[in-house]
Amino acid sequence: MKTYDVIIIGAGSAGLSAQKKISQQTNNYLVIDQSPLGTTCARVGCMPSKAFLQTAHDYHRRLIFGDLGILGEETLTVDLPRILSQVRSLRDHFVASILKNMESWRDKHFIEGQAHFIAKDTIQVNGRSYKAKTFLIATGSSPHIPEPWKKFSTFTLTTDNFFEQKTLPQRMAVLGLGPIGIELGQAMSRLGVSVHGFTKGHKIGNITDPQITSQAIQTLSQEFSLCWDTPQIQQTQSGELTLTTGNTSCVVDKVLLATGRKPNLDTLGLKNLEIEWNDQGSPRLDENSLKIHKAPIWLIGDANQRQPLLHEANDEGSFVGEQCLKKNPPPFKRRTPLSIVFTQPNMATVGKTHQQLQKENINFVTGSVSFQNQGRAQLSRENQGALSLYIDQKTGHFLGAEIFAPAGEHLAHLLAWSLDQNATVSELLSRPYYHPVLEEGIRTALKDARKKMHTEKV
Ligand SMILES: Cc1cc2nc3c(=O)[nH]c(=O)nc-3n(C[C@H](O)[C@H](O)[C@H](O)COP(=O)(O)OP(=O)(O)OC[C@H]3O[C@@H](n4cnc5c(N)ncnc54)[C@H](O)[C@@H]3O)c2cc1C
Repeated sequence: MKTYDVIIIGAGSAGLSAQKKISQQTNNYLVIDQSPLGTTCARVGCMPSKAFLQTAHDYHRRLIFGDLGILGEETLTVDLPRILSQVRSLRDHFVASILKNMESWRDKHFIEGQAHFIAKDTIQVNGRSYKAKTFLIATGSSPHIPEPWKKFSTFTLTTDNFFEQKTLPQRMAVLGLGPIGIELGQAMSRLGVSVHGFTKGHKIGNITDPQITSQAIQTLSQEFSLCWDTPQIQQTQSGELTLTTGNTSCVVDKVLLATGRKPNLDTLGLKNLEIEWNDQGSPRLDENSLKIHKAPIWLIGDANQRQPLLHEANDEGSFVGEQCLKKNPPPFKRRTPLSIVFTQPNMATVGKTHQQLQKENINFVTGSVSFQNQGRAQLSRENQGALSLYIDQKTGHFLGAEIFAPAGEHLAHLLAWSLDQNATVSELLSRPYYHPVLEEGIRTALKDARKKMHTEKV
């Protein structure tokens, strides 16, 4: 049997980034994917979700038209089938571009099928065995379906089929208010669907800072109902679902399950291999290399559950693709942490979160700004939200930020790049700030932090 240098299992974002690097080093490689091809990001993730959100946010803006002197907003309506159809055509465009990029190597190096290990150096696909010196597992993740919901499958949607819907019902529940649930919950509500959000504990999106969390909850609960518990489910005789928490209940037509994603590892036969497992039931990884202990197998992208984000999947794929054939590879170095949730206002975290700083017992002060009275935010009628900057109490170094603010996606990038430069509060205050811009809000928060550095005791 031929031995390949590398076999990549999964042609998603991580797998394709790895393929690019590997193809520069050897021709003796294979990529296996069970399909559908086109990546989670383009097919059912980042791209269709942001296309859907864009329309919802654009439509929502009509509510301030009257105040601005633009008349006729009450004549605007939504055509949900058309909205979903334009989301799908944008999605198809992005998927097609990924498939096109695969054309140059697909005939020689690609097999469609589900792979599983029968030994540390051998997998089986479609009943045939393939040997390799090195394997990269890049099999991604899938929506988690909580056990009680399994018997209500006719009522449930996940992001795997949400964008395939021809239209949306009048009443939807969203279970789970992490990044995916809160984005789609707000968007559906803005498009006229009556939305009830449920999540366990007062945590929302990607935010950990209590002050920013309470701002986000206060703002978003004005748009749709947020419940902080898991609901009891009951099917009514008229074919609807009643969801109950405590004394309140609601009737819905469908439920979007957004309760997290689980890595696609179950069908890979990893239990057949003599490898070590961690307490969470995943293969034990060397964090420096992303390689499974005692096996020539690397685990990248959502499949390793480290940072389930697109740019992280790409970075891990590029790094492992570049290094897995080398004798003494350098350690994997992550970029500055950055995560964004595209609600309006945007939620974002940069660097160390409030929760991490507390857990690590770091002495920090928080510089805050509210966007309610911020000049530019008022001009654009987007004056909601707040931003917290965390500054090392002793050295003045910027450590991280949590954001629920207009154009938070851009403020987060600016702050992430500042963090990369290891900037201090004084250095950041010495930078130019134009007027009137949202970045002036960052300056207010920096000044607040500088003041607190001098007034708060270490
Ligand atoms: C609704 C939604 C919105 C999102 N929005 C954002 C966002 O705005 N920004 C962001 O950074 N991230 C976002 N993400 C996350 C991002 O999409 C993922 O982190 C990223 O796509 C993961 O890439 P991956 O390569 O690990 O997996 P994937 O792209 O899922 O690739 C895995 C591949 O493995 C294949 N496969 C699985 N099992 C097997 C097997 N046994 N044998 C062979 N092939 C197999 C699959 O067919 C698939 O092609 C979002 C995700 C979702 C669901």
